[in-house]
Amino acid sequence: MRRFAFLLLTGLFFLLCPATARAEVRLLAPETAPVGQAFAITVEADEAPAHLALTWCGKRLALDLPKAASGYRQELLLGTDVLRAETGPQELSLEYAGKGGLSVIKRRIVLSAVAYPEQRLDLPAEQVNPPARLNDRLKKEREATQKALAAKTPERRYELPLARPVPGSVSSAYGLTRILNGEPRQPHRGLDLRGAAGTPVRAAAAGRVALVGDFYYAGQCVFIDHGLGMVSQYFHLSAVDVREGQAVSAGEVVGRIGASGRATGPHLHFGLAILSQNVDPAPLCGISPAPGGQ
Ligand SMILES: [Zn+2]
Repeated sequence: MRRFAFLLLTGLFFLLCPATARAEVRLLAPETAPVGQAFAITVEADEAPAHLALTWCGKRLALDLPKAASGYRQELLLGTDVLRAETGPQELSLEYAGKGGLSVIKRRIVLSAVAYPEQRLDLPAEQVNPPARLNDRLKKEREATQKALAAKTPERRYELPLARPVPGSVSSAYGLTRILNGEPRQPHRGLDLRGAAGTPVRAAAAGRVALVGDFYYAGQCVFIDHGLGMVSQYFHLSAVDVREGQAVSAGEVVGRIGASGRATGPHLHFGLAILSQNVDPAPLCGISPAPGGQ
């Protein structure tokens, strides 16, 4: 009788958990990740699935699995944005079409708090609160930025570590809470690097220029699509050396340091978005700023 019950339970297990019993796609992801920081995930399969897409922070990314030494495998970065992410569990889901039809793998990644520092800045009042006549311009620039950050080229073009765009040290770290003229503002969603005006700015990785702009906040700026949802951003340039649509290699000069847009002096603002989440670029290009960002 006991043996019968055991067989029955085993049978029920396989009936109720077909996806577990014949998992064709495997997802390796961390259990925790600090808010604002990137993390790596790996998707692997014995055979390439006909359809594969992940969903993270409300964004979907279709994936192709390149052939690996054994089976098929893709390693990629995901991350969260200090502006939007809240601590606690966040779901990562991976949907694929395999032999058993459509399956979904779900993982809970717990986002942990990071004590990002605070920075006080005083700027001319017009730059802190732009006049209403600029509303249309700002809206267009926001839309162009969102469109560039939404790039989802299926081929991975980036290698780690990323190339450091300029050799200068960090003047403002990612995640700083900015207090402009006494008013708390959005946290700093990139990394400010020191450098004299005219210093060459290099692409963090291979990719394609998604956008070149001359924006109110970002000044002369370049956005590069590196594939799999990664887009790097270079702001406040004094000159741009690339055009939209151009393919660039890692380390190629894309512009020169300047102080265009909302900047108190020449520096490079280097941003890195993954699926529209601006993450901390510092650890990905071997920079570890001291606490306080100085
Ligand atoms: Zn900045």
